[in-house]
Amino acid sequence: MEVKYLGLTQQFNDESLFSVIREGLQKGQFILGPEVQSFESRFAKFCGTNYALGLNSGTDALFLALKALDVGPGDEVVTVPNTFIATVGAIIQAGAKPVFVDVNEEYNIDVHLIEGVITEKTKAVLPVHLTGNPSDMTGVFGVAKRHGLYVIEDAAQAVGASIKGQSVGSFGTAGCFSLHPLKNLNVCGDGGILVTNSEAVYEKARLLRNHGLKNRDEVELYGFNSRLDTLQAMVANWVMDQLDLITEARIKNAKKYDEALSEMVPRIKIPPRRDHVRQVFHTYVIQAMDRDKLMVYLGQNGIETKVHYPIPIHLQKASKYLGYKEGDFPVCENQAEEILSLPIHQYLGKEQLDYVIDRIKKFYNRL
Ligand SMILES: *Cc1c(COP(=O)(O)O)cnc(C)c1O
Repeated sequence: MEVKYLGLTQQFNDESLFSVIREGLQKGQFILGPEVQSFESRFAKFCGTNYALGLNSGTDALFLALKALDVGPGDEVVTVPNTFIATVGAIIQAGAKPVFVDVNEEYNIDVHLIEGVITEKTKAVLPVHLTGNPSDMTGVFGVAKRHGLYVIEDAAQAVGASIKGQSVGSFGTAGCFSLHPLKNLNVCGDGGILVTNSEAVYEKARLLRNHGLKNRDEVELYGFNSRLDTLQAMVANWVMDQLDLITEARIKNAKKYDEALSEMVPRIKIPPRRDHVRQVFHTYVIQAMDRDKLMVYLGQNGIETKVHYPIPIHLQKASKYLGYKEGDFPVCENQAEEILSLPIHQYLGKEQLDYVIDRIKKFYNRL
């Protein structure tokens, strides 16, 4: 049997999507316009925020959130070293300095460590809802409020996730989502969206997204070209209709893994699951004894797995000048040796899940 990590070819090979695009192309509007606006208003409603702004990537959602809040040179932004590189890249592109704290057993920011790295230069905390699991926002806000910091949420992996019914992205000053093909709400290319309740952040980011143009001829401030493609907005609206089904399928798959793999403790570790939290399982990440061998064995059995991410950001060559070293973030570094992402996408069938579980058990029984 073959179990692919992704279901992308299935997802976009769909007549109803082709007809949406065919109709859309005939309207002759390829930059911004009603398709982008309708996606933005649907997405704002979905997150429970006043505003949403379609952008060309999740990276730019983070970058423009920082720019809109005037976070730049001389400022520090607290974040985690186990995220996708874009989180940190956006901070650096904005001219600010990333300051890392270690993560907890849920792979999210350890809120008890934030206070210890705050200086007079700290402007913002940037928690990442990694794997689609919301960070402890009560903990983050406890510190942020005491020190007058902005909170910018990297919700790129967490569309649809919530805490006690409140959507991720709506807690902070700004919430940043990605529409990258690998994400749960995905398009056929790059795309991103920023949500906020702040009119000022929205208005500034909206200017920055389109060259700082106030109208066709007047430039308010120098900006960028970071618009969500109209064609991708059509795709996003089409996927949005299916988002709840996509999310529910992933949650169901995760439950099955959770039940079956909890028998495998301590060789397999599953992160704790919190009550009142809706995790959306962008990735299903376990910690596995002999991870590398397990990964090879699963591969030989036709099961594709991944590691998100094998090299912590503070140990990347590009981060050398920040001055971190091995041992600085032991939890993150240990996890990097053990984590494994199993296929979790919405097209997996029961037989495939059973097969993955069966092969994992076989691997450990052989040892
Ligand atoms: C995907 C991702 C991003 C970047 O999104 P793009 O749309 O690819 O630019 C940022 N942060 C995290 C955690 C991500 O997973």
